[in-house]
Parts: sequence; structure tokens; C-alpha cells
Amino acid sequence: MILDNIIDEIKKAEDIVLLTHETPDGDAIGSSLALYGALKQLGKNVDVIIPECPSLFQFLPWYKEIKKEGKNNRYNLAIALDCSDIKRLNGFAKYFEGAKIKMVIDHHGSNTMFGDYNFVNPASPACCQILVTVLEYLGAKIDKKIGECIATGIITDTGGFKYSTIKAETFEFVAELLNDGVNISDIYRKVMQLISKKQFELRKIAINRMEFLEDGKIAFTYITKKEQEDLKLDIGEHEGIVELGRDVAGVEISIFMREQADNSYKISFRSNDYVNVSDICLMFGGGGHPRAAGCTINLPLEQAKEKLLSQTRMYLK
Ligand code: AMP
Ligand code: MN
Ligand code: MN
Repeated sequence: MILDNIIDEIKKAEDIVLLTHETPDGDAIGSSLALYGALKQLGKNVDVIIPECPSLFQFLPWYKEIKKEGKNNRYNLAIALDCSDIKRLNGFAKYFEGAKIKMVIDHHGSNTMFGDYNFVNPASPACCQILVTVLEYLGAKIDKKIGECIATGIITDTGGFKYSTIKAETFEFVAELLNDGVNISDIYRKVMQLISKKQFELRKIAINRMEFLEDGKIAFTYITKKEQEDLKLDIGEHEGIVELGRDVAGVEISIFMREQADNSYKISFRSNDYVNVSDICLMFGGGGHPRAAGCTINLPLEQAKEKLLSQTRMYLK
């Protein structure tokens, strides 16, 4: 069984590198730090590499251990967490490709199975939830610190325990974490509710220009590179904007475009009931989950918008 192989390889490896997807979210960072803590507990040499980590997550244990570069390209074992595609490891695929054994632990249905061992469960609402099983088999103790990392991934990837992806066992894990002393309510507020003044200003811009198209079934908005520069935004401060459109009555799909430094647009899609937005994003070389997905488009604003909308319309009832 694949889980036995995963456990065997982790136990054998001395020198391990943990990697996750670009523009990392709470699940990406939570799963990386939870596994880091567990592997340290087992006495391994571990590097956790996250080039651009939002400071929002600095309350997490081992945040200060995060490295921007690895020590070499020849780790015994590389583990990619919460990452569906080697392209999303960004410039850091070199650590994955150079490692003797390559492992993928993920929950994206669009995962391309790019490892030697792929432990991928699209039924799991968060990569952190898959890790609970992995850590149990590894014989690592899920203590309070590891629990805080796991709770962060579960809370952020379920939109604060509200997505339909959530399972009864998700609540069972979280109940155990509460019993272990993890302050769920504090983490919830930090990762789901608290926003900086700059984020608030950015949301005002995005809301002011939000359009409702196709009888109000599509919400569309964007932010430019200049607006982000003027506000001196930190990494990850655009998070949450795409959800604002989805929460309006009658909207099935929310689309948010964010201009990046190289003038390309990072696109976020969210849906409510029936549109599989991962399918739409796959057409543009991206992917994700049925109700939350993304892609990148290298076109000027109006052309990118028209291309996205013409595809998206076909999915509406
Ligand atoms: P985001 O809109 O960036 O929050 O992403 C929503 C979901 O889609 C997350 O699970 C991402 O991991 C996934 N996703 C975003 N962009 C891509 C991409 N270019 N390729 C594959 N998956 C993506
Ligand atoms: Mn993620
Ligand atoms: Mn995830």
C-alpha cells in the first residue's frame, strides 16, 4: 500500500526537504510546518523551504525555521505538500528534481502525480487532514505545536469549517486538537478574520469595481500592479477578495484577477453550487478543486477578461 511505502521512505531518509506551492496559503504553510515538527521529533535533518511566506502566519511554531534556499540539490528525500503540479513549486522544483526520492502528499483532484510516491486524496478537505493519518502511521505525537499547524490548514482550506468538503472526521480531529490545548478560536480569528488596514483598502478598490455579469451569476473584479504597489502590500494580502464576490446572492462564480510583477494575471475562481471551476482553470493550464481553483494568464487585462468570461459562460445553467 502506498502509505506503507511513504512511511518506509520517510523512516529511511536522513536528510529531507519540504516544499509547497507558490503564493502559499494556510494549508501549504500549516502542512509544511506540521510535518517539519514531526520529522524533527523523529530526529531527522529537515529543511522547510518557503520562499515567500505571508507574515500573517508568523504566530505558527517553527515559522522562524523556514528557509528561502536549500543547502544543496541532493536531499535524500523531497516531499511536496499541498501542491498539485511541479510547475507550482516555482523556482524550487530544483530541490524536488535533485532529490533521490520524490514524494507528493496532496489533496488536489487535478494533481499530476509528479512524485515517485504520490499520496493524494481529493476527498480530503485539506492537506493537513491527510497529514494527521501520515503522522499517526509514522508514530509521531501530534502535540500542541503540531496541532496548531494542522488546525491552521484545516481552518483555512475549509473557509472556516463551512465548505461542503468538510467531513465528520474533520470535526473529530479538531475536537482532539482542542483536547490537546490548541486554541482554535484564536487561530480562527488570526487566519480568517483579522485583516490589515492595507487589506481593507484593497478590498474597497476591488469591491468598487466589482461587476455582476450574466444575470448576476458571475462576479468579476481585479486589482492592478500599481494599486498593490501604492498600498505597499505584503505577500498574501490579496487573499479573501475572491470570496467577497461569491458571497453575493445569485452569484455562482466569482473571478478575481491580480496583476503580477511581470504583467501577467494570477486568476482566482470560486463557485457556489454546481460549476466545477477546476475544469475551467485546467483549460488555462491551472487547476485546483471543484469550488476553488486558479490559473495564470499572460495577456492584457481586457483580453484576459474576455477569454475567461467566454469559457466561464459555457458552464452556467
Ligand atoms: P487561489 O485562488 O490562489 O486561492 O487558489 C485556489 C485553489 O486552486 C488552491 O487550492 C490552489 O492550490 C489551486 N490553484 C491555484 N492556482 C493554480 C494553478 N495555477 N494550478 C493549479 N492549481 C492552482
Ligand atoms: Mn494551498
Ligand atoms: Mn490545500
